[in-house]
Amino acid sequence: GPAPEAAAPAHEWLDAHSRRFGLYINGTWTEVANERLFDSINPANRSVLAQVTQASSDEVNAAVAAAKAAFPAWSQTSGHVRARYLYALARQIQKHSRRFAVLETLDNGKPIRETRDIDIPLVARHFYYHAGWAQLQESDLAGYEPLGVVGQIIPWNFPLLMLAWKIAPALAMGNTVVLKPAEWTSLTALAFAEICHEIGLPKGVVNIVTGDGKVGEQIVKHPDIAKIAFTGSTEVGKIIRSATAGSGKKLSLELGGKSPFIVFDNADLDSVVEGVVDAIWFNQGQVCCAGSRLLVQENIADKLIGKLRTRMEQLRIGDPLDKAIDIGAIVAPAQLQKIEQLVAEGENEGSIKWQPSWACPTDGYFYPPTLFTNVAPASTLAQVEIFGPVLVTMTFRTPDEAIAIANNTRFGLAASIWSEDINVALHAAARVKAGVVWINSTNLFDAAAGFGGYRESGYGREGGKEGLYEYLKKSEVKKLKTKASPAPA
Ligand code: NAD
Repeated sequence: GPAPEAAAPAHEWLDAHSRRFGLYINGTWTEVANERLFDSINPANRSVLAQVTQASSDEVNAAVAAAKAAFPAWSQTSGHVRARYLYALARQIQKHSRRFAVLETLDNGKPIRETRDIDIPLVARHFYYHAGWAQLQESDLAGYEPLGVVGQIIPWNFPLLMLAWKIAPALAMGNTVVLKPAEWTSLTALAFAEICHEIGLPKGVVNIVTGDGKVGEQIVKHPDIAKIAFTGSTEVGKIIRSATAGSGKKLSLELGGKSPFIVFDNADLDSVVEGVVDAIWFNQGQVCCAGSRLLVQENIADKLIGKLRTRMEQLRIGDPLDKAIDIGAIVAPAQLQKIEQLVAEGENEGSIKWQPSWACPTDGYFYPPTLFTNVAPASTLAQVEIFGPVLVTMTFRTPDEAIAIANNTRFGLAASIWSEDINVALHAAARVKAGVVWINSTNLFDAAAGFGGYRESGYGREGGKEGLYEYLKKSEVKKLKTKASPAPA
């Protein structure tokens, strides 16, 4: 296992804050109200990492008021000056990358290899990328203006990365924000608030309020908020959609998925196996665009599943701080129970479960990589997002059948297509209903590429130039009143 000092950068930071956190509002930390503290745990060993505040409605109001007061000056600050703040945030994240990576791993349970090499570098990249757009705003986005105060609500699966996806474009385009992290994973958002402070971001531009869905509800219904940006479950997305209907608030929703991973019989199966590992066991499968439905051409199904089982036996599960492990802990006991319940339901429906022979650690919330075969396309396992390390397999005979099965869910977030014949792959790619399609690859993200879903996976795009428009509105050009000139004779 890892040496204890591996976790030191995060523990020192938590200790420096006495492991109790207020909220970051108007450039200062609120006083900690003991009666409203709740625990943030390390799911790999059940220890309490810190205590975080359930925001009161007065505090939510104060955060919105601070963002509202900061908006006029921030929105009128020229783009190149706003860019400097975004560059400074990016550099500060890189400077403290070890602290952020370890903190995220402790709080969420995801492997340090992922937070170190993927989450935190992508966070920095997101701020760098949007700093560029801030500089270009006056020239390339003329005729558009920022919205005002934006309420942002994010999930626990990529805590700091989802924060970056929200805050970077909002600030770049001149908005101010009130952001609420998910209640299980608030710590990196609080560490982010600290770096906002360190770089001298004007007070009120970024406000971080912690707490559960009730705090989220208050943000959603606050009259001084111009836009809600939400990433989370389809269920809560629907609640937010009806709560904002008729309010005039702009809304973007990034919701769930049940993404297909389609393997044609001419695919390179060894690459496919590594692709599957990445698609469904990256971040314990708690990934909105996880390739959770393996659709494989019938004539190669047995061969692929045999290879996959061999590979699954080799996967290592354990302490997320251990650089050698592949699979970490599930974020919280409630999420583990949800996975166990859906797996049991799948077995009751007649699907066949397979798990490696090794045992999971017992000191935290772990779940083994799981493979289901004999899955009917209409079954719970094939239709419901599990958000865990559970892969369901179905077979097809023809490309048409593959596309029909792929599109047969309520979702449409991502798809991964595997074939050594580019014509087969491109033909399928054009017909899959998904916001992002990967060919012979999976889980590739970049700040420059728009991300978002079809159907119940939500609407609006994050990232790329298109993502900027989520934080802009068309300027109201005042029409000059002119007297109608007489028609020429
Ligand atoms: P969740 O919907 O339970 O919670 C998300 C956030 O919403 C949390 O901060 C929560 O406190 C808050 N919330 C809960 N109830 C609320 C309410 N009534 N009003 C306002 N806010 C409320 O989702 P989760 O369990 O944290 O995340 C998992 C889900 O997120 C999965 O379905 C996953 O697919 C989805 N997800 C989607 C994307 C994407 O980009 N499409 C990315 C990551 C996760």
